[in-house]
Amino acid sequence: MRHAIVAGNWKMHKTYAETHKLLDELIEKLPAGKEVEVIVAPTFTNLGSAVAHLEGTNIQVAAQNMHQAEGGAFTGEISAQMLKSVGVDIVILGHSERRQYFHETDAILADKVNTALRHDMRVIYCIGEELKDRESKQYLNVIFNQLKDGLFHLSKEQWKNIVIAYEPVWAIGTGMTASPDQAQEIHAFIRQEIERKYDKTVAENTSILYGGSVKASNAKEIFSKPDVDGGLIGGAALIADDFCTIVECC
Ligand code: PGA
Repeated sequence: MRHAIVAGNWKMHKTYAETHKLLDELIEKLPAGKEVEVIVAPTFTNLGSAVAHLEGTNIQVAAQNMHQAEGGAFTGEISAQMLKSVGVDIVILGHSERRQYFHETDAILADKVNTALRHDMRVIYCIGEELKDRESKQYLNVIFNQLKDGLFHLSKEQWKNIVIAYEPVWAIGTGMTASPDQAQEIHAFIRQEIERKYDKTVAENTSILYGGSVKASNAKEIFSKPDVDGGLIGGAALIADDFCTIVECC
């Protein structure tokens, strides 16, 4: 069901001790009684201990990536089954850093989505245009193609486990945020294309998060837009007070 979500993507930050310190701060400071799902995505090495640490809280743990194969000779990779075995059943897929630096294509990502869903995981699927696509006014095409090639092979039923994160690449870690109106334009476009491909129910039931330089100071305005259901937060998720304020804004 469509609902408010704030997810923190910790990227390649925080050692074991730092992870546990930040988790403790979040447990202490996160606003109680908010109708918002809070998710944190620490690095692979800290996932299992984060799940154990957060037992009995409302904070969920996600992985930042996974491999599409069930297992085998893939040195350095992590499978869905491994994530599930330490209690992780949410995975972020298609982050622009994975696409850009690790050459993950929509075809690879579609495979990863299939594997995750086969293991009953929820997927936070990231899409978003680069600056050149915006400047050449191709951004809607780029976003549509990412949706189509990564997710439009799924059944309506499978969409229950899909959350979309719209993250314009030019806004990630740059301090440049899409304006609330720019975010709303794209979120409404994504919802419209889901409706066109499936139906109104699927479109209305899909949570669509915004990501890209969301901060304590701009979250409220971005989250106030009708098609923005929450955020995927990078830098500001590493500071407990900032992350908690962002959750408060949702
Ligand atoms: P940022 O990162 O909030 O630091 O821009 C967002 C993301 O990459 O998910």
